[in-house]
Amino acid sequence: MSIATETTATCNACGHVQKVKVFGSINVAEDFGLKSKVKDGSLFAWQCPQCGRWNLLKYMTLYHDPESRLMVWLVPEGAMDMEQEALVEKKMTYLTEEGEDGKSSLEGYVLRKVGEVGDLIEKVNIHDAGLDDVVIEMCKYFAKMELGEKLSEEDRNKLYEAPFKFYRLEGPDNDLTFSYPMDGQMQGAQIGFKVYEDCSGIVSRNPKVVPHGGFVVVDASWIAKFFK
Ligand SMILES: [Zn+2]
Repeated sequence: MSIATETTATCNACGHVQKVKVFGSINVAEDFGLKSKVKDGSLFAWQCPQCGRWNLLKYMTLYHDPESRLMVWLVPEGAMDMEQEALVEKKMTYLTEEGEDGKSSLEGYVLRKVGEVGDLIEKVNIHDAGLDDVVIEMCKYFAKMELGEKLSEEDRNKLYEAPFKFYRLEGPDNDLTFSYPMDGQMQGAQIGFKVYEDCSGIVSRNPKVVPHGGFVVVDASWIAKFFK
C-alpha cells in the first residue's frame, strides 16, 4: 500500500511555505506511475510556485516492488530523531523476522537500506536491469582500481572517494554505465559485461559477501570489507 501525507515545506530561495505530498511508503505494483517518479527523483522534489526554485524533500520512505521482490528503506540522515529511528528500526526488524515455520514473509526479497534518494534510485535501476547490487559494488571497486592506475596520486584518491552510480546497461554488448562526480563535473565510465560476469562468479564463491537477515546497507564500504 502506498501511503501519502501532506506536510509543509519552506522554499530554500524565497522562504515561501507550501503544502507538499510525502510518501511514507511507495508500492509500485499498485500505482506504476509512482515508479517513474521515484526513478526521475520527482517524488522527492517540489518546485516553488513563487520563485521557480526546485527544492529537495528529505523524508523516510519504504519503496516496495512486490512483483520483482525489492524493498528499499530510505532513511535520510537527519530526517528523524534517534527515538523515532529506534522505533522504526524495531518495526522493520519485526517485518523481516522469521515465523514459526522458519520463514520470513519477505523470503526471497532483496532488502536494502539507503541514506539518500540517489541511492534509492540506483538500487531500483540495478534491480530493474536484472542485476545484483553486491556484484555491482564489486564492479565499481575494480573499475576505480583500473581508472585510477592512469591518474596522479591526488586524482586517484579523489576517484576512490567519488560515489559511482550505476546508470544503465548500454549497447549491444550490455556495457555497464556508471556516473560519478569529479571536480564538480559528472563523468561517465563504462565497463564490459564480462567484468560483471567475473564479479558475479567471485560473489557466488564467497557467500559471506551476500547480505542476509534484514535491511542491509550495500555500498562501497560493504564491499571494501571483503578486500581487506
Ligand atoms: Zn521560492
